[in-house]
Amino acid sequence: MRILVVEDEPHLAAQLRQALTDAGYAVDHAGNGREGWQMGGVQAYDAVVLDLGLPELDGLSVLRRWRAEGVHAPVLILTARDQWHEKVAGIDAGADDYLTKPFHTEELLARVRALIRRAQGLASPVLHGGPVALDTRSGRVTLDGHALVLTSHEYKVLAYLMHRPNAVVSRSELNEHIYAQDFDRDSNTIEVFVARLRKKLPAGLIETVRGLGYRLVAPP
Ligand code: CA
Repeated sequence: MRILVVEDEPHLAAQLRQALTDAGYAVDHAGNGREGWQMGGVQAYDAVVLDLGLPELDGLSVLRRWRAEGVHAPVLILTARDQWHEKVAGIDAGADDYLTKPFHTEELLARVRALIRRAQGLASPVLHGGPVALDTRSGRVTLDGHALVLTSHEYKVLAYLMHRPNAVVSRSELNEHIYAQDFDRDSNTIEVFVARLRKKLPAGLIETVRGLGYRLVAPP
């Protein structure tokens, strides 16, 4: 899952980036509205954390432009305290949720998790694929109730597939969603991660769809 953080305050930006990275997301950061708007238009992010008070282009304008351009990513806006009208304007401009500054990182993480799973039509924070369960709150993965040890990249690949049960996901899509912008990526490594995951997971859970990509096979 790849997240865009648009925040101009360096300290808060660094803190958000760290918390989201620790939670298993690939994180890109923009320090002003114009850069954020451009990045959000080019890359399909799984969620966006958007500050409203931004230099160059304010957050509301960024959001209105995205929605007018058909950018559908779930957006969590950060608003200043006592600015209730900002929340109303933000939601009317297409925000999916808001948080008032200052906030606890745990609350931001919970809201981001909820936005991502709602965007996929998933109600529970625990995702299931046959005997495999992935708890998006703790990052814990279990097989028949026993903990599985995954590397951070294996986790990112599995989490992406488990958010889209039974959907065909191409290698390039996985590449786009498990790495941050500044990461030196290599499309062959996706195959390596999937091969390693398959050794740890039940046979047939991750199916190869020839020429198209992978599918996490989950019984209805
Ligand atoms: Ca700001």
